[in-house]
Amino acid sequence: MTTEHDDAGGDGTPATRSPEPGGGEDEEAQVIVVGAGPAGSAAAVHLARAGLDVLLLEKSGFPREKVCGDGLTPRAVHQLVRLGIDVNAPGWMRNKGMRWVCEGNQVELDWPRLGSLPDFGLTRSRHDFDDLLAAQARAAGARLRTHVKVTAPLTDRSGRITGVAATRGPERQPVSYRAPLVVAADGASARIAVALGLARDAGRPVAAAARRYYRSEARTHDPYLELWADLRCPHTGLDLPGYGWVFPLGDGRVNIGLGALPQRRSRPVDLRAAMEHWLPRLPTGWGVREESAQSPLRSAPLPMGMNRRPQYRRGLLLVGDSAGMVSPWSGEGIGQAMEAAEVAAETIALALARPAGPRREHALQQYPAEIHRRWGRYYRLGNLASDLVFSRYGFRSLLHPRVMASPVLVRTLARLLTDVSAEPGRDTIDSVLHTLLRLVPTPRP
Ligand SMILES: Cc1cc2nc3c(=O)[nH]c(=O)nc-3n(C[C@H](O)[C@H](O)[C@H](O)COP(=O)(O)OP(=O)(O)OC[C@H]3O[C@@H](n4cnc5c(N)ncnc54)[C@H](O)[C@@H]3O)c2cc1C
Repeated sequence: MTTEHDDAGGDGTPATRSPEPGGGEDEEAQVIVVGAGPAGSAAAVHLARAGLDVLLLEKSGFPREKVCGDGLTPRAVHQLVRLGIDVNAPGWMRNKGMRWVCEGNQVELDWPRLGSLPDFGLTRSRHDFDDLLAAQARAAGARLRTHVKVTAPLTDRSGRITGVAATRGPERQPVSYRAPLVVAADGASARIAVALGLARDAGRPVAAAARRYYRSEARTHDPYLELWADLRCPHTGLDLPGYGWVFPLGDGRVNIGLGALPQRRSRPVDLRAAMEHWLPRLPTGWGVREESAQSPLRSAPLPMGMNRRPQYRRGLLLVGDSAGMVSPWSGEGIGQAMEAAEVAAETIALALARPAGPRREHALQQYPAEIHRRWGRYYRLGNLASDLVFSRYGFRSLLHPRVMASPVLVRTLARLLTDVSAEPGRDTIDSVLHTLLRLVPTPRP
């Protein structure tokens, strides 16, 4: 098994569709969104719905692969519904909860029924998922330009962004796009943010994850997202500072992978070796073996813990992986990217309703403030848990047999890990979690 590494979002798989029509020349818009992953497409949908003229620029074409576990919790499903995606259409595989496996024990946890959150999760390969979201952005009125690789921000003399420079098509025709506001949704590479001087917080570790598709008739319709907490790094014998997953796709395949923080904060984990060590432990009846593999093992970074701040500077808003918004609790990033995209779009719509100048700028500054108001404490506590627990002892320590045997404890843990709780609280577990988070000092935006 070899590992292919993808460090910049889309994996460059040849697109099956040619570039979107139009856009061969320089263009202008009210807002430019760079990257049509979940963050960018969601932002473009919300912006277009607010009546704004939006250009959505994507370096690859659709459909295309993206290295991911393809798992969506109820929070992410909630966002899909808000985007107008029909989650009852064919192609979606529903799950009713998570199954945690640890030291020969397992526990199934159904998603709770809470407020407006749906009580189911979904899976869908990113090959289809990102295509659907980009199509939704176009249907909402955004101008989608594929095969456009953004190379640099364009700025005025004060250093404020005024657009982006890009190359278009296989011939790499230079082209420029102008707008007073730009949303950077270009994933882990964060090229635009870096160019504007928004560096990653070097104190925060970057996790990595790898996945591979297998054919498995036995597991493809599993109603649970399965997670393994007791994996080891074969070279060191230490617990994997992360977990493994087996996610059913409902189309004959399963997505199997694992994600891990660097070992003791510094040494990267050999994901391929950990996977090879783990897979023989899966029941043989599942049919997960080399001959049933449907893809190579591919890996990519997981920029987590809000590791790039502030999320707004000089006309540029960062959303999703470009801002390191992957949850430090679970490694999930799709729902987080879509939620932040909605906040960014709303902020932009309100800001553009004001005249250019200090009042508009003040409105734009509300974006990082709102991100921190909503998620600052949750991420701060998650970063602490990741430093003190996950990176040292993995998830095995949390899933002690006594925790797994206690329905209340294990449900509380599951809700904390997946951020599935209602505000205001609906039950005792919600109240406990909200009290816990209120005790966390608010981080600065
Ligand atoms: C192995 C693995 C498993 C994961 N599993 C899950 C999971 O099960 N559930 C979950 O919620 N999250 C998961 N994640 C995290 C999730 O994939 C990301 O958090 C999510 O994709 C972030 O979305 P995004 O839109 O910010 O970035 P991306 O999805 O990376 O999208 C960025 C887009 O920008 C485009 N782009 C990049 N540079 C440029 C440029 N210069 N010009 C134009 N376009 C550009 C890319 O082609 C891409 O389309 C996983 C991650 C990994 C690596």
